[in-house]
This record gives sequence, structure tokens and C-alpha cells, in this order.
Amino acid sequence: MSEPPRKRMVRPPTGGAEEGRGKPARLKTAKLRTPSSQAWLERQINDPFAARARAHGYRSRAAYKLAEIDDKFRLLRPGARVVDLGLAPGGWTQVAIERGVTAIAGVDLLPVEPLPPAQILEMDFTDPACGPRLIELLGGPPDVVLSDMAPNTVGHKQTDHLRIVGLIEAAADFAVEVLKPGGAFVAKAFQGGETSEVIARLKQRFADVRNVKPKASRADSSEVYLVATGFKGR
Ligand code: SAM
Repeated sequence: MSEPPRKRMVRPPTGGAEEGRGKPARLKTAKLRTPSSQAWLERQINDPFAARARAHGYRSRAAYKLAEIDDKFRLLRPGARVVDLGLAPGGWTQVAIERGVTAIAGVDLLPVEPLPPAQILEMDFTDPACGPRLIELLGGPPDVVLSDMAPNTVGHKQTDHLRIVGLIEAAADFAVEVLKPGGAFVAKAFQGGETSEVIARLKQRFADVRNVKPKASRADSSEVYLVATGFKGR
């Protein structure tokens, strides 16, 4: 019997260019790649946040997005219980741990290299068994629910859009179901997306709901983050 295909382990990046040096690098092996993967790689090599992340030992440049959000809203503190949805490869969890969080549970579809003391599940967050397992691992209701989940796009605009909105709604429903009063919810969203309904629902449950575009979020991307603070309870 043939073995099932192995999943890709999300590994921390290593090595790479230092920030802001010289001309943008071009890759000489371009012929072997599709134009879009070539563009992605060149952008990655020349991206100052990616270079900083490599130098700092962060597993992703996304770490800087959460760091900036937290500098503003002060959500991550020692003693807080935190859930990280879509954590791979682990940049957000690294930032939370760096800021003194010791009770943190995360989930991703992809395998993630261990990040103690984080408890990590490899499963689909939309599986109904996932939420209860996260809370069990955490040992109680969270103070903060983070979601940086982004679905793989299939190239069909409406389908991709529905999948993105579906994930935001699932994360928001979970947050409202499990958060401690006073808690916070941070979720990746997209400008112009059909997120007005979920924002309206969050506004009923949280004292403050904002759209935040961190500097590390690429200017040419429609990505924004919803930051909801002061959970009023169920
Ligand atoms: N915050 C992460 C970091 O700092 O390293 C980066 C997260 S990455 C932008 C989005 C992640 O969401 C991907 O690893 C993807 O596998 C995960 N994801 C997408 N849909 C998911 C789902 N239904 N359940 C769990 N994870 C999911």
C-alpha cells in the first residue's frame, strides 16, 4: 500500500539579506519558477520586515503586525490566556510568548514546529471539535482570541471571498462564545469585503471595534485587522 502524501512542515526561515542594503535582489534561477512565485520570492527577499524577522528569529514577518497592534492596544500580558487561530508558522505566538503570555493554545491546518509553552493543534478550526479542544488545552476561557487565518485561494473571486468571510465569521462566533468579559478579539479581514455584518455584530458585543492597518501589512494588499476590545459578555 502506498503511503499518504506528507504534509509540508512550516519551518522558521533562516539566513537571508540584511535590511535595506543595496539594490533590490533579482533571482537568477527565474526560469524554473512561475512568474507569480518569482514575484513572491523577490518581494520576500527585498522586504525589510521579512529581513528583520529573519534577523530577530521570528518565524514570519506577520509577527510585526501583531507587535504593532499590541503596542497600541496592550492585549498581551503575563497571566492572560490567549488563543491563536491559524498560527503557522508561529510568528504571532512568538510575540505573545515574548510579551509574557504562558497560557496559549493555537491551531493550524499545517504542522508547526513546537513553540513551548504554546499548545498546538494540527486541525481545521472549522471542525466543531476544535473550539472545545482549544479551551481544554488552555485550561479556561481566553482573555484574547487572535485570528490571522487566511484560506488558500482558488482563483475564483466569489468563492475566495466567501471562504475568507466564512473564516472571519467562524472566528468571531468562537470569540463571542468563549471570551472572558473584558476580553479582546483580533482578526485578519479584507477591505471592501462583505465584513460589515460581522463588524455590526461585534459592535453589539464589544465596547470598541476598529479597523487597523499595521505598517507591516503590505500597502498594496487589502488586508486589515479588526480589533475588538472590551467584550461585554454573552
Ligand atoms: N499569524 C501567523 C504567523 O504569525 O506566523 C501567520 C498565519 S498565515 C497568514 C494564515 C494561516 O491560516 C495559514 O497557516 C493557514 O494554514 C491557516 N488556516 C487557514 N484556514 C484555516 C483553518 N480552517 N483552520 C486552521 N488554520 C487555518
